[in-house]
Amino acid sequence: MTDSQPLVKTLDFQLDIQSDNGGLLYDATLEARSAYNETIRLAKEGVDWNAIPDRVADEADLVKNTTQRVVVKALGAMENYHEYEDFGVPSHTKDGTYPIRANYEEGYNLSLTHDGDVAFRISAKPYKHVKGVLKGSDTHLDILKIALESDEWNIGTAEVLFHNDTAELHVNVTNTEQTVRDKQDSRTVVGVDVNEDNVALTALSEDGVEDTLVIDFPEIKFERHRYFTMRKRVQNAGKNSIHDTLEGREERFVCDRLHKVSRHLVEWSRQFEKPCIVFEDLKEMRDSIDYGTRMNRRLHHLPFRALQYYTSYKAPFESIPTGWINPEYTSQRCPMCEHTERANRNKKRFNCRDCGHQDHSDRSASVNIAVKGIEKHQDWNVPALNSLPTVRKVRRQASGAVDAPTVTHPTARGYQADGRMGVSD
Ligand SMILES: [Zn+2]
Repeated sequence: MTDSQPLVKTLDFQLDIQSDNGGLLYDATLEARSAYNETIRLAKEGVDWNAIPDRVADEADLVKNTTQRVVVKALGAMENYHEYEDFGVPSHTKDGTYPIRANYEEGYNLSLTHDGDVAFRISAKPYKHVKGVLKGSDTHLDILKIALESDEWNIGTAEVLFHNDTAELHVNVTNTEQTVRDKQDSRTVVGVDVNEDNVALTALSEDGVEDTLVIDFPEIKFERHRYFTMRKRVQNAGKNSIHDTLEGREERFVCDRLHKVSRHLVEWSRQFEKPCIVFEDLKEMRDSIDYGTRMNRRLHHLPFRALQYYTSYKAPFESIPTGWINPEYTSQRCPMCEHTERANRNKKRFNCRDCGHQDHSDRSASVNIAVKGIEKHQDWNVPALNSLPTVRKVRRQASGAVDAPTVTHPTARGYQADGRMGVSD
């Protein structure tokens, strides 16, 4: 076991495609989906896993290395399914795009232009390149420019994917000077349950639950609903420019609040011995499994991904590792007796049908997330829980003022745009 891990960041950009073959990228992501489906299908058929990569690569119209990475990802989903009983069967019939992964200086290349932009070149298909410049937040562009010019960061693999019909490039960079403690070397696991109007945190160690904190942020929910109504009104009146301005302001407001909440979350976690912050991995699930409407609705709720993203962005700078667990049943399982049933939960109230344990339902979920985090990453045992400490609640003060700076980069992305708040914010 190593003591520390390199500090890795994923930088997100939109692609401003300037060659007239942008359709190739879309085709390639569809081709990647076919390769993914074919891999799952062959694995389900019982084909020897060693034979699958070549069989799929021979048929796919993709750069070979790209196909291999898709196959690895698909087999990883199958492995999870076999390893964890509660992990659903990966689907091989989903359609739509699937991200393509590329190695730096093989599948894609980046360079600084005379205008100070970052130009990209992506091998969408064998010997066919798509070119243009990257658009994105200043924070991410700045790190990438530093990475291109200095040894402080190394540029690694990237993913090309489509988000709301916009082509994006997610670039992994590694900081060569800073390290993060290995998540396996943790003494406390902080489970994070993100909801539309709060986030519940539970710190769990070998001794039991150390503490629970619920951070309420009703104003985020309130403002999002308010903006939604305003946008609908101007949209119906055909005033699209006002609609876009409102959208920018809402994004700025929500991002600003969520940055503050994520900072609070990291600060709170720091008080415990060797903490590791664990989230529900909603993205992986979306890629591989067809879910019902409730899960889909949760996935598209803005605070989820944004808060996880901001937190996982800040925590490594405090040397706190982050981990991800399978979200299934985290809201239904009783933390005391492990009885799992949908009826245990009724909105914000948890009432176990078996042992009668009553609790704040988001706290129960955060305990379950911490438990899964320990099972997945730690070599010490989950303690038996006999009692839980009182839930402490704090509320982030609402502010009536929407202090929105001018949006200089209109962005098709919603929640994932990191804004211009910087790492320390
Ligand atoms: Zn129970």
